[in-house]
Amino acid sequence: MESINKEKPVPKLHRYKGIPEHLSDIPTRELGSILPGPSLIYIEGETDPPLFISVLLHGNEITSFLAIQKLIQTFDLTSRRAPRSIILFIGNIAATEKGLRKLDGEPDYNRIWNGGNLPEHRLAGAVLAQLSKQKLYAAVDIHNNTGKNPHYACTNKVEPSFINLAHRFSKTIVYFTEPHEVISMALSHFCPSVTLECGFSGQAAGINHVHDYLTNCLLLEAAELFSPPSSKPNEIFHTIAKITVPCNSHLGFGNSRSSVDVCFRDDLEELNFTPVPAGTRLGTLGKKGCNLRIVDNSNKEVTDEYIRLDHNDIVTKKTFIPSMFTRNETVIHQDCFGYIMEPYPIGE
Ligand SMILES: [Zn+2]
Repeated sequence: MESINKEKPVPKLHRYKGIPEHLSDIPTRELGSILPGPSLIYIEGETDPPLFISVLLHGNEITSFLAIQKLIQTFDLTSRRAPRSIILFIGNIAATEKGLRKLDGEPDYNRIWNGGNLPEHRLAGAVLAQLSKQKLYAAVDIHNNTGKNPHYACTNKVEPSFINLAHRFSKTIVYFTEPHEVISMALSHFCPSVTLECGFSGQAAGINHVHDYLTNCLLLEAAELFSPPSSKPNEIFHTIAKITVPCNSHLGFGNSRSSVDVCFRDDLEELNFTPVPAGTRLGTLGKKGCNLRIVDNSNKEVTDEYIRLDHNDIVTKKTFIPSMFTRNETVIHQDCFGYIMEPYPIGE
């Protein structure tokens, strides 16, 4: 556990009724000039129950907030009622101002939703306590990837309403139960919930995709929103294990082998969401020989099931489908190197 940075203000939940002035046109890095910290904003609509939307749990993933700004403009939400009420949670504003996933010494804002003793856990508890007082229509949490991945939607339950809500965003659906401390898992006890993964941060395609998806969530009746779209999903992938690198290891890509602890192949991100056959080289260990570590959903080490060392090369032992492989060394250390998935049989 990291120690708490004493200079960091204790995160406190700020509540608003209606959209604060200039929220729709403030540059993301200046958000703190309007909102002093994590904020829960209630936006009245023509119908209830409200749609819950969470944005900026990771401060460097700004597509969510840019899509909300566009939504405010589309529906003129500063002066009119929304088609459906909205409860908007804007998360890690201090990290957003610095363009970081999270600040040093604080927990990840999407790992604080299952209790704990830190101020951030109490913040999450205050949000959930507020939400538990009313019925919710659906919950949408919005993220970006630092590595190259398709736009996809994650679900924490395989019930039809959850799958259909995910499928409205993408034909590529990921079902996961770990990490279980995420907001979508907490909200899954209240209403159908989904996590949207919208490619690289800030790209127009992602912003438009999220904007159009949220528009559908606000306009569609439950019978339509939670029933299957006309096309079938391509596949549902089930996350079964997580790959991490040793703490403080120095990572490289391509030909930086002699100067780093682990050197990954240059085109690593191209492997995301594709079956990687047994015998594929992922990278090479440096002089210290510190290897990757793979743990399954019950936190059992399964490294030897998936990879082996051939001299110093890291080679896959069986076919698997990776996601979230990234070249961003900071994110690899703050979160993980990637996940291992397998196809989940549709209809079970
Ligand atoms: Zn994220």
